Amino acid sequence: RARAREVLATVRDREDNRLGVEAMELLDAYGIPTPAGEIVDSPERASEVAAGIDGDAVMKIVSPDILHKSDIGGVAVGVPDADAADTYEDLVTRARNYQPDATILGVQVQEMVDLDDGVETIVGMNRDPQFGPLVMFGLGGIFVEVMEDTAFRVAPVSEPEAREMTEEIRSAPLLRGARGRDPVDLDAVIETIGRLSQLVTDFPAILELDVNPLVALPDADGGATVAAVDVRLTVD
Ligand code: ADP
Ligand code: MG
Repeated sequence: RARAREVLATVRDREDNRLGVEAMELLDAYGIPTPAGEIVDSPERASEVAAGIDGDAVMKIVSPDILHKSDIGGVAVGVPDADAADTYEDLVTRARNYQPDATILGVQVQEMVDLDDGVETIVGMNRDPQFGPLVMFGLGGIFVEVMEDTAFRVAPVSEPEAREMTEEIRSAPLLRGARGRDPVDLDAVIETIGRLSQLVTDFPAILELDVNPLVALPDADGGATVAAVDVRLTVD
């Protein structure tokens, strides 16, 4: 909690009240698993960090002016270590082409999450003038955006309520392992909904928050079974 307060304090000194992956530490502080990674500010550091990460890397532009990174070509997936420095330059060039005066905080170099085995979910929060902090859960991609297949509860969300959220969406069978896939670790998803609900309850200054995607993975041997790979929030 003290760590989360520190992260929020540093960002509140900024002009911008919108935060992206530079706020990933907030999730960390609340025990929500995030892939290994770092935000770097040079091609050389990008190479070093990529070399220290298992397998290929994902690299993302970090800028408060760019909210939807992939829309501008600001996300590079499956980057071999040897390409990290060039990719750094590419991402910055794309951001500059999109908006010449964009504030660029750096480039995030992040461990890859296995999306083949995982299901992309979304956990979010919006403060509703009538109901207060509404926590949302749904599956990523068309499920939330097109089919509006979402579940809502007012924070703080209890464990039984979080479980209901994962059960009541129409796309719930995909979490349980439809089409011969392994079921995801639902308990980890439920726990994450609870932790995010606690975070936004502890910090009323967080007006909006989205983890999109939270990748839900099958229960494997020991490792984390959820990964918050992207976050975006608005603070007061
Ligand atoms: P944005 O939503 O701003 O476009 P994201 O960080 O969500 O940027 O990245 C876009 C997409 O790239 C994600 O929805 C996911 O499919 C994929 N992706 C991002 N980070 C990772 C990662 N670490 N491992 C695997 N896939 C990733
Ligand atoms: Mg995203």
